[in-house]
Parts: sequence; structure tokens; C-alpha cells
Amino acid sequence: MPDGFTHDVIIIGGGPVGVGLSIELGLRGITSAVVEKYETIQPIPKGQNLTQRTTEHFHFWGCEEELRNARTVPRGAGIGGLTNYGTLLNDYSYDWLNRAAVKDYYYTANERLPQYAMEAVLRTRAAEIEAIDLLYGFDGTDIAQDGDGVTVTATEHGGSAQRVLRGRYAVGCDGSHSFTRQAAGITQTLADHDRKMVLLVFTSTELHDLLERYPGKAFFNVLHPDYGGYWLFFGRVDLGTSWFFHAPVPADATEENFDFKGFVRKAVGHEIELDVDYIGFWDLRFALADTYRKGRVLIAGDAAHSHPPYGGYGVNSGLEDARNLGWKLAATLKGWAGPELLDSYDAERRPVFASTASDFIGNYIEQDRAFLNRYSPEKDLDEFRTAWSKRSEDTADVNSFEPNYEGSPIVTGSPADAVPSAKGTHEFKARPGHHLAPQLLPDGRNIFEVLGEGFTLVSIKGDDALVEAFRQSAGERSIPLTIVEADAPELILAYGASMILIRPDQFVAWSGDEGSADRILAKAIGAS
Ligand SMILES: Cc1cc2nc3c(=O)[nH]c(=O)nc-3n(C[C@H](O)[C@H](O)[C@H](O)COP(=O)(O)OP(=O)(O)OC[C@H]3O[C@@H](n4cnc5c(N)ncnc54)[C@H](O)[C@@H]3O)c2cc1C
Repeated sequence: MPDGFTHDVIIIGGGPVGVGLSIELGLRGITSAVVEKYETIQPIPKGQNLTQRTTEHFHFWGCEEELRNARTVPRGAGIGGLTNYGTLLNDYSYDWLNRAAVKDYYYTANERLPQYAMEAVLRTRAAEIEAIDLLYGFDGTDIAQDGDGVTVTATEHGGSAQRVLRGRYAVGCDGSHSFTRQAAGITQTLADHDRKMVLLVFTSTELHDLLERYPGKAFFNVLHPDYGGYWLFFGRVDLGTSWFFHAPVPADATEENFDFKGFVRKAVGHEIELDVDYIGFWDLRFALADTYRKGRVLIAGDAAHSHPPYGGYGVNSGLEDARNLGWKLAATLKGWAGPELLDSYDAERRPVFASTASDFIGNYIEQDRAFLNRYSPEKDLDEFRTAWSKRSEDTADVNSFEPNYEGSPIVTGSPADAVPSAKGTHEFKARPGHHLAPQLLPDGRNIFEVLGEGFTLVSIKGDDALVEAFRQSAGERSIPLTIVEADAPELILAYGASMILIRPDQFVAWSGDEGSADRILAKAIGAS
């Protein structure tokens, strides 16, 4: 560590994204301090649905098994979703957000567990990694950056003890009210829905018994014509007793003046017995930072973007930020990154979030509102049934949610005019800018088992001279490159190319049969 520096990176905020980033960095040999306000994890279930892509992160962080063991709904009990019309117990329902539809395109299966249980897995894993210092019970209270680094003052939460930390970079993972974002002078653009929402955590064994009619379902979205397309959302916290519920409430609703039990019963469609354990409010809005980087200060997760918890994008997007930023920061600190690599974090991740907000979450609200305004069993039963059945066949949301970096400044071979987006298609073809789909190698191993920590060049009977040129260029530029050679024509058919350059975050940097190895690698590390 150079003189005067305590760590390579100071991370403010030890929620899932901050701790995930520290693990990503730690496994790459980068030291970090995580400054987190709370000693203990807040027991609010929050982000529960983890996509297949997110469980890949846990796999690479060495804690996938621990994640699966932390599940509160037993394995085999099912983690599917259901959309219902009017009430939970109404006859109109269909499978919703069926992530099984895209399972073959990822190495690991999706998972569902309360966010606090997932955070506990991350905290335990981080504690095992020597390069990580966990400072729980400290607030980041001051940040100052200069040409060489960032100085962060951490003050004991509710006390006065202080620690002064100095890193080459600082990353704010301190949630939607991010102190780091504000201290760095990063502005954000807000799109307000002007809607107050409630989050309830409640217990009801009766609801569990009633919902046995929907085996294997763990979350339920009730569309009710009274609520203008905003969801009445139920999620199981465990199997049998505990639930969370979020839904729109009047702007002046308070814990005292609003009948929450009555609201839940209306959404269920039955006078169930329930005990409310927690009531919280939030404003439904989208927020997107105008940049993810200001000099040596970067932001990630909810600090960079926040949105209503519709469709389970929040924690999944934040953890992808951590993967994207982690290898780029590590490469920069280790000296093999080009000068533009760190800026590619903003160039790739910000448009993906903008697209997640408009093409998916905002779109859900608009489409549901339009449907509820147009159709109802009371108005015209046949017309309603036809339209409802058509909605039930639509799996487009899961299939087309495919965050990709086509058009990224560090990807070679994107279509002209392409831009990074959350909207794409799932394919096995190794397309530049897209997540690599898994495939079996001739020796029976999955390609994900042979990927290197840095870049990986997979050559499927590729041109030997080009493989050698990649090896030489990587050596000269000190880029960690694993070369995998496979004699498997069927892989060329699946991937659509005989050579694929895969980034440290399992996205394709380039695929093809010919090109300049040095130019491709230079671009991939932001040195073009
Ligand atoms: C009701 C609800 C349901 C949700 N459902 C889903 C879902 O199904 N799927 C999904 O993907 N997402 C969901 N989300 C969103 C998800 O919870 C967030 O996107 C996720 O928590 C973001 O993680 P983060 O680490 O960026 O921020 P946070 O989880 O907010 O963590 C930030 C951390 O920073 C700490 N901190 C703040 N300020 C400071 C400071 N100055 N100094 C030190 N520490 C500080 C905080 O204590 C906190 O631990 C839901 C959210 C809610 C509220």
C-alpha cells in the first residue's frame, strides 16, 4: 500500500451491493474497507427474488451453496409467481415472471430468500477474506478527493469516535439517500409517480392455508381496478406464517389513521386473521444519477439508481453493478487497465438501468393500468376472459429482460448504432456485449468451470496464429488471459463463432474468426 493509504478502495455502505463489491475486489487481491452504519442487518425482507444471473455472482464469490442453505422457504416448495385479478382468491390468475423460461442461458438456478438472509451470507463470506476490513456501526460523514485518492471520515453511529480512511478510490453503496452521491456533487434525475406506498410485514397462517390452492407459488401480484395499475403485492417470507405486502395508500395515510388489516383483507378477498409486525412507507419514484463517477468517487446500487420494487430488479441490478465495477477497479489498480476502462462502468450500467426503468418497470405500470381501464368481467365477461388469457401466454418480460452492453466502448463487433440496454433476447450465440450462455465442453465440463479470473479466450478450432497473437498481446499488456482450446465443432454451431473473448464478468468482449488481437484486447481494457 503506498504511503498514507489505508486501503485501495473505501466502500461507504455495507448493504448487499457494498459487501458484494468488497468480495469481488477482495478475491481480485484489492483491499477495501466497508463503512456500514448498522452493526446488525435490518430485518426487512425487501429484495427476495434473485435471478439466475445474480446466483452466478454468488457462485463466483464462493458462497452459492451457503446462499441456497439460507433459503427460508424449503427447497422443493417452489418459488414461482402468480398474477391475480381483483383479489388473491379470484378465479382469474396466471403464472407470472416465470424465470424457468430462461434457465438454460445461465450457469446457476435462480433463488428466493429474504434480503436479510442473503446479506448475512455476504457478510459471512466477506469476513473470511483478508483483504476486507468491515467497519460496522460507522457512518461515512465526510469525503474529500484529490488527484491521488479519497479521504473518508467514518464516525461511530450514534457516537463520536472517528476513523480516517484513505483509499485510491471510494465507492458509495449507501442506498437511495446516498450521502456519497451528494457529497461528490452527483445530481440525479427523478421521475415521480406521486404515489405513497406501504410495506407491511405480517403473519397469517390462514393465508398460507388458503393459498395452498396455488402450489409452488411464493409471490402474488393482485391487479385491482381501484389502484390504477399499481400492484397489490404479496410475498412469502417463509413457508407457513410470514408475509410481506406492498401497495399504494392515500397520501395522508399514517400508521394510526389507516386500516391496514382491512386493506390486506380486501386484496385477499377473504376476512383472514393476521398480525401486523411492521409498517413502513415509501414514495414510488424512479431516480437515476446523472453520472456514476465523479473523479475517484463512484456510486453503485440504489445510490446510483432506485425504483419501485416491481419485478425484482433492485438488488439484482445493484449486484451486477458490483460485478461490472469490481473487475474494472481491480484492473485499474493493478495497472493493466486502459485509461477509459473505469468510465465504461457508467457507459454500460447507466443506460441498462434507464432501460430497466422505462422498458420494464414503468411499462408494467402503464400496461396494467391500460388493461384495467379497458377490460373488466363486469363490463364484458367474454372480452375480459379473452384478454386475460392472452396476457397469461405472454412470457416476453422474462425473455426480453437481457441486460447487455451492445455498443459499449469496450466491446468489439456490436451492431452499428447499438446502445447498452436491459432489453434483449436470450440466445446461445456468443454475441459481443452479451452474457455468455453456458455450454458443455467435450470433456464434460461446463465452460463456466474453465473461465479464468481475468479474460478468457475460447478457441474452438480457431486460427492458431490468432490465438498466438492474443497470447502475445495479453503478455505485453500484462492482461491476465486464460486460453481454452476445444476441439468441438458442435460448440461453433451453438456459439456461432470459432473464437470468443470473454470478460472477467462473463460478458462477451468479442467473438469471430478473424481480427487484430491487439486491437480487440486494447479496446476490451479501455485502451483503444
Ligand atoms: C419492499 C421492498 C421490496 C423489494 N423487493 C425487491 C425484489 O424483490 N428484488 C430486488 O431485486 N430488489 C427489491 N427491492 C430493492 C432492494 O431492496 C434494493 O435495491 C437493495 O437493497 C439495494 O442494495 P444497496 O446495497 O444498493 O442499498 P441498501 O440495501 O439500501 O444498502 C445501503 C447500505 O448503506 C448503509 N448506509 C447508508 N448511509 C450510510 C452512511 N452515510 N454511512 C455508512 N453506511 C450507510 C445503510 O445502512 C445500508 O446498509 C425491494 C425493496 C423494498 C423496499
